[in-house]
Amino acid sequence: MEQRKERPILFSVTTGQPSQRGKRLQSQDGLNWKQRNRDAVNARRRELYAADPEKHRARQRAYKNSDAKPAVLAYNRKWSAEYRASLKAEMLAAYGNACNCCGECEAMFLQLDHIENDGHMDRKLHKTSAKLWSKLKKLGWPKDRYQLLCANCNFGKAMNGGICPHQSKEVINA
Ligand SMILES: [Zn+2]
Ligand SMILES: [Zn+2]
Repeated sequence: MEQRKERPILFSVTTGQPSQRGKRLQSQDGLNWKQRNRDAVNARRRELYAADPEKHRARQRAYKNSDAKPAVLAYNRKWSAEYRASLKAEMLAAYGNACNCCGECEAMFLQLDHIENDGHMDRKLHKTSAKLWSKLKKLGWPKDRYQLLCANCNFGKAMNGGICPHQSKEVINA
């Protein structure tokens, strides 16, 4: 195997730090140009579409009838499944990787529980768990309204008027 050539480390004349010359520029806000200028990009797209709608409709039709569509959909499905899995792992880690009641730590049993039993509101607002997780991630995984419960404790809590039977002697719903 050919040995990689050692490059001499150059130092910036202005900062005295190792030179950044030739390195990819790092975005300051974590966004790329397109994301930062979304309105302008969308406006330009509308402009191009309006200039020749038929061309764009024909392109859409061609895409719909081509073999590309199933491949693109399959790719998107795979990507979202992987994204959901990694988001779930992150969510589980953020909330302690274990049931807050009985300590169960098998990931497949664990669910995000709404401490105040207001899950219906979140479901109305976010539709899917992944959308809720991504919102919670943005909020820094708030612990005041959410906790991890295993499926048993979560179900038991719902059946027992908001408190897991593990925590109360009187089981209302026998
Ligand atoms: Zn549990
Ligand atoms: Zn429990």
